[in-house]
Amino acid sequence: MIIILLGPPGAGKGTQAKRIEASRGLVQLSTGDMLRAAVANETEVGNKAKEFMDAGKLVSDDVVIGIIEDRIAQQDCEKGFLLDGFPRTVAQAEALDEMLAKKGLKVDAVIEMKVDDEALIDRIAGRYTCAECNAGYHDTNLKPRVAGVCDSCGSTNFIRRADDNRETVVSRLEAYHAQTAPLLPYYREKGVLKTIDGMADIDDVTAQINQVLDAL
Ligand code: AMP
Repeated sequence: MIIILLGPPGAGKGTQAKRIEASRGLVQLSTGDMLRAAVANETEVGNKAKEFMDAGKLVSDDVVIGIIEDRIAQQDCEKGFLLDGFPRTVAQAEALDEMLAKKGLKVDAVIEMKVDDEALIDRIAGRYTCAECNAGYHDTNLKPRVAGVCDSCGSTNFIRRADDNRETVVSRLEAYHAQTAPLLPYYREKGVLKTIDGMADIDDVTAQINQVLDAL
């Protein structure tokens, strides 16, 4: 099964992708996570991507398409995967269709997580993750059960993303509306677009996604 989670930054794609990965064994492929790892490791790709990411702009299509092509060739993707943050442009969507077609595969569903722009800035400004296991939290919406201790792994180390600040969020939202929103008609025409209410509470959003997946 090949699933795409589509939505603006802060829609909850990463949180939901981790839940679906855990419950269904679909590997989560987040180009944002892969690029952040490349930046941290100061690889050639990371050094090229950093200034775009810091400015809230999209990294070039060639770079992310190359990353995804290498990643889906790995064995753990054979049973299916869940794309989170890719594709983000029509050129990326077309490249994905092409690479899947070569393997006799296609995208099974694109789940649009619909959210209000105004809510996104607060969601993004409050979020942070466990530095050890990457579990996601939020200052007000999703606190750890014990303050300062990760629910999943017990770590007390947390980090906030460099681009999760109010200034960069505005550029990221602009990039979404200008470059990523055209994917909605692209996938609607292919008959694979499913829209869910991303403003509902986290468990309810998971239930809506599961409903879509169960119906496939
Ligand atoms: P994310 O974690 O998905 O919000 O991605 C963080 C940043 O990484 C984005 O603001 C972009 O700069 C870059 N990025 C992630 N995925 C892509 C993509 N598919 N295409 C272009 N840039 C991307």
